[in-house]
Order: sequence, then structure tokens, then C-alpha cells
Amino acid sequence: MLIQSDYHIHASYYRVKAPSALPGPTAAEQLAAARNSGSIYAGIVEHCNDSPKHPFCCLEELAKEYYSPSFPGENVFLGVEADLADDGSDFCGKAGREKLRLHYVIGSVHDSPQSGKTIEEYIAREHRCITNALKYNSNIDFIGHPFGEGHRWERSGDIPLWHWGLIPQNFLEDILHFAKESGKALEINRPYFEDPVYLDFLKRIRDEKILFEVGSDAHAPGSCPAAAERTKKLEDLGFREEYHWRPFK
Ligand SMILES: [Zn+2]
Ligand SMILES: [Zn+2]
Repeated sequence: MLIQSDYHIHASYYRVKAPSALPGPTAAEQLAAARNSGSIYAGIVEHCNDSPKHPFCCLEELAKEYYSPSFPGENVFLGVEADLADDGSDFCGKAGREKLRLHYVIGSVHDSPQSGKTIEEYIAREHRCITNALKYNSNIDFIGHPFGEGHRWERSGDIPLWHWGLIPQNFLEDILHFAKESGKALEINRPYFEDPVYLDFLKRIRDEKILFEVGSDAHAPGSCPAAAERTKKLEDLGFREEYHWRPFK
């Protein structure tokens, strides 16, 4: 039995939006949605990167909400989703982590075809960033949605179909190997359970006793139930709670 948790819930209230846009959910609103969808443990994050939408002061505001005395913080943690650089360093760094009093840092790659990269360049960069983060970055606790951006090249029409068979097998082997060696977790975030290569990757995480985290990546309350669906899938696949990553205060 897996204890349902979700450490990848965005409090999108804390970002710079167009004046006409609706405000995103606060940490309290996202936490209520996570509880309603059955998560016993939850973690609230926002992006930490060089986008003008995500200045550091937004994260300070989020931390202020989390650490306010009225926030129901039991079994709830504070993190950020920090962009990874090619050398594996992350945009938050240890100083940012300390300043925000974070419990964890997710290291993720966010690329899109708008950057001008081909799908092959994206795959190579994701592999490079993740393996370097696993090898050298002690600030990162888990890797967010490995190869989770490939679908963008399908959506833009650059490739007919995104699937995990496009990723060289040795790239996947490296990620499994260095995750195991580093003791960091890999996030299970995308719902590609019908993709045989993805499914095989999940089974390797399970069989090689690599730490895993299940994230909804919810940017709005309506997306929080995805954590329950994914946790159920992993339970059916025989994942064990023993290797389910958990942060500590
Ligand atoms: Zn992300
Ligand atoms: Zn995210």
C-alpha cells in the first residue's frame, strides 16, 4: 500500500501574471485541493528560474504564506522547482534554499521548441542536466518529470508523435544508475503508462529500489487528483512505500 503524497503542487498565485489574467491558487487553496484528492503528505512549490514571471520575491511571498502561523502546515512541506543548468547546478542554489527555509528542491529541465532546439537537442540536454545534477548537485532532492517536455515538440508539429522510444536507451540507463548511486529520487509525473519504454523505465525504478516521488504538477486545484490516479497505477505495478521519497522538517 502506498501512502498518497504529492510534492509537486504549484501555488501559481506567486508569479507575475498579465493584469487581465485570473490569479492562480494560493498555497492554502492548493493544499485544500490536495487534501480533497486524498494526499496525506503534500508539498507546495513554485518555479525558480530566470523567467520574468518567476522573480525570487514571488518565492519569498510564498514562503511568507507557508510560514504564517495560520497556515495548516502539518505534513505539508515547502519546496521549489528549480531549473537545472547543463552542469547540473540549479537556479535556486543552497543560498536560496536557506533564505526561503525550504524542505526540498526539485531539479527540472524546462525546454520547448520555441527555444529553437530540435527534439534530439532537447533529449541530449535533458540527459546532460539530469545526470550532472544526480552526480554533482547536493542541493537537489529529486528530479522533476524526467523527459517530461518532449510532448511539446509533438504539440508544435515538429514531430508526429512523442514517445519514450525516441530517448536513447543508454540515456535512461545513466539516469537510473546515477539516481540509485546518489540516493536522490526520480519523479513519476507524466501519465504515459501505455508507452512500453516508459513502463519499462518505471519497472526498473521499482526493481532497482530507486527512490520515487509521485507528483501531480498541478497548477490549478482541478489538477491535484492526478496524484491519486498515478499513485494507484504505481500500486498496481507493485511499487513499495519503503522507497517512496519523503522530505523532513
Ligand atoms: Zn516542471
Ligand atoms: Zn512543475
